[in-house]
Amino acid sequence: MPETKVIYADDEEMKDAVREAAALLRAGETVGLPTETVYGLAADAFNPDAVAKVFSAKERPSFDPLIVHIASRGDLKRVAVVPDDILETVNKLTSAFWPGPLTLILPKHADVPDLVTSGLPTVAVRQSAHPIFRAVNKELGNPIAAPSANRFGSISPTSASAVVKELGGKIPLVVDGGACSEGVESTIISIEPREGKKPVFRLHRAGPITKEQLQDFGKVEKVKSISESAPQAPGQLASHYAPRTPLILLEDISSFQPEEGKKYGLIAYRGEDDSDYVNLHDWEQVESLSPGSGKLAEAAIRLFFVMRLMDEAGLDYIIAEPVSETGLGVAIMDRLRRAAAK
Ligand code: AMP
Ligand code: MG
Repeated sequence: MPETKVIYADDEEMKDAVREAAALLRAGETVGLPTETVYGLAADAFNPDAVAKVFSAKERPSFDPLIVHIASRGDLKRVAVVPDDILETVNKLTSAFWPGPLTLILPKHADVPDLVTSGLPTVAVRQSAHPIFRAVNKELGNPIAAPSANRFGSISPTSASAVVKELGGKIPLVVDGGACSEGVESTIISIEPREGKKPVFRLHRAGPITKEQLQDFGKVEKVKSISESAPQAPGQLASHYAPRTPLILLEDISSFQPEEGKKYGLIAYRGEDDSDYVNLHDWEQVESLSPGSGKLAEAAIRLFFVMRLMDEAGLDYIIAEPVSETGLGVAIMDRLRRAAAK
């Protein structure tokens, strides 16, 4: 394939970009599109040949199912069959969080190709809140299968330039919609009804919709083990979102024993001068996840950007400072742990 084309889609040019992207999708091609979480590699979910191109561009194993994106809540019935015993819960959740970064695992509709769901009887579905993604989804008229637009296992892209670095030459088009507003992938849950009680939500992947937000609607429980989730949620593979440079999540600061002559960089949370982590070592480079507000939302937005920056800095090791594991911090720590796993 020749070079990947990048079109910038600001307000005025958005219509042209949307039309071009939808035309390519209709022709069975893949397109890199911005979502509010990370950039996705989109294909017409009802076209198995197009979906196959997503797997091959990403070098993604066929056992790793894709998330299906719908243009409107009314389209849910085109991709999923919602059982009566969770219908009310699904309605409440979609009213509260769609369009937005909550993915629901539901029994799949027969029209969804098996390739999309890796042969599973369930489909992962959400409605994106990103104006460009939504417009392309609407213009195409079909649901869009879109995993993150990176090579399998590597750092998720939160900018169009990151998509080009990951998949340049392998896909025809990336629509540049600027930086992603959430920065980490969607929260993924499945729903188990309980007689006379609020349902249980199994958390398959932590994300921007937090446990605290979900608790109003049901009891949130983690998927018990990797083996339980492995066939269903390879986003849960121990090693994922990983830079090429070894990353160490330094949860116990006293355990840091730098090797002589090696270059170490620090991913700090806030990175003020009086931080124990910043002062621990003569770092080659320090990047803060939240240099502005010291808030987790900013850290989530910057996480993959900073990981990528550090990976390109010629370091021997990347050391990451932990963040507090509440709210969005759960998703951030999940990504850091997987980036650190071998
Ligand atoms: P990505 O967008 O690259 O993060 O990939 C989508 C992720 O959604 C997969 O890696 C799985 O973790 C998850 N997923 C998709 N479909 C299902 C499903 N039917 N059941 C469980 N998890 C799913
Ligand atoms: Mg991914």
